Amino acid sequence: MTDAAIDAVTGGPIDLAATRADTPGSHRGVFLDSAGSSLPPVQVLDEVIGHLHREAEIGGYRAADERARDLEDGYAVLATALGCEPDEVAFTDSATRAWLAAFDSIPLAEGDRILVTEVEYAGNAIPLLRRAAEVGATVEPVPSDAHGAVDVEALRRRIDERVQVVSLVHVPTNGGLVNPVDEVVAAAHEVGALVLLDACQSAGQVPLTGLAADIVTGTGRKWLRGPRGTGFLVVRRDVLGRLRPRQVDLHSGTWETLDRYRLREDARVFELWETSVADRLGLIAAFRYALDLGIDAIAEAVRDRATHLRAGLTRIPGVTVRDLGVNQCGIVTFTVDGVAPATVRDRLRERGVTVHTSGVESTRYDMTRRNLDEVVRASPHYFISPAQLDAAVAAVTAVAGTR
Ligand SMILES: *Cc1c(COP(=O)(O)O)cnc(C)c1O
Repeated sequence: MTDAAIDAVTGGPIDLAATRADTPGSHRGVFLDSAGSSLPPVQVLDEVIGHLHREAEIGGYRAADERARDLEDGYAVLATALGCEPDEVAFTDSATRAWLAAFDSIPLAEGDRILVTEVEYAGNAIPLLRRAAEVGATVEPVPSDAHGAVDVEALRRRIDERVQVVSLVHVPTNGGLVNPVDEVVAAAHEVGALVLLDACQSAGQVPLTGLAADIVTGTGRKWLRGPRGTGFLVVRRDVLGRLRPRQVDLHSGTWETLDRYRLREDARVFELWETSVADRLGLIAAFRYALDLGIDAIAEAVRDRATHLRAGLTRIPGVTVRDLGVNQCGIVTFTVDGVAPATVRDRLRERGVTVHTSGVESTRYDMTRRNLDEVVRASPHYFISPAQLDAAVAAVTAVAGTR
């Protein structure tokens, strides 16, 4: 059967041929790095490039004015996808910027405690450890359960009124685990702690509506297939009053009299005035694209591909799949006996298969605990065909055979 014929019979709820037609890069080899920086659809590309051309024609201010309505509608688009209100959404230039803006705004004092999961991401851990040391607070990893998800019972045993924040990574950067959110939020709220949810690896592949986290951060370039240099922040209305945004400007507030200013009372207080309008339009287009396909359909299609890939990898002698959790998503990690993960990545690239690696520096609690230095990370999106997954498994088989 040809690739197209296989696509036609296994398309599932997502029209595989249509999404592949929208994704020119999906035909250039086997792209398995949507957890790193995915392939945007032409709808995103056209929006970004079109706006850059318009800026060159009439200037950035007028070009933005022309799209004022679309930019404003963007808050509602994100709110629909993220299960919040438009005034709870802020656009940022990365997930990390969103996370830092939120975390830095949470009051912390000596003796306070911060709970994190064992899959905490380095980009969060470093500012957590730094600020905790500055104020005399502690950062405490909560143990994982037997399958590798955060152990909610262990969390409940540890949590008390001194806990101000629970930093929860929804899906880790180094594996297919999906952490429970609502159980963690329930435990945190019993003691008045805020839950800061890092949804970088879940946004665009796992439904986020209905989650009760107080603050949610995410990135554009991964599973959402948006442009690089884009991110978003959700801050619930009822927690905004507890936060003190540290970096504010003339967009976050208004200079009202010579010595007085007033800050906005919605999530946009976390935005700065200057932004790449083209990239923001691209991110909004990426969210629209995901909403049009349906996040539930995307989740199912991605899970199917990851399951297919894991099954194929498991059958290869010398290959060990490393994903944690019972509830798993589209990130597939593995190691090959006797071949360093970076070498596996390079050899797969020579065979037209794009994967990435994830090292101990990114998720130190987890990788140290599991005695892992580095893993290969393959992250197939819904635009990958079953034939491409089989080609990837064949390529890994060949690489494993050369050890
Ligand atoms: C990629 C990633 C981030 C950072 O996202 P940026 O857009 O690069 O700032 C944060 N957390 C996790 C779990 C990630 O995988």
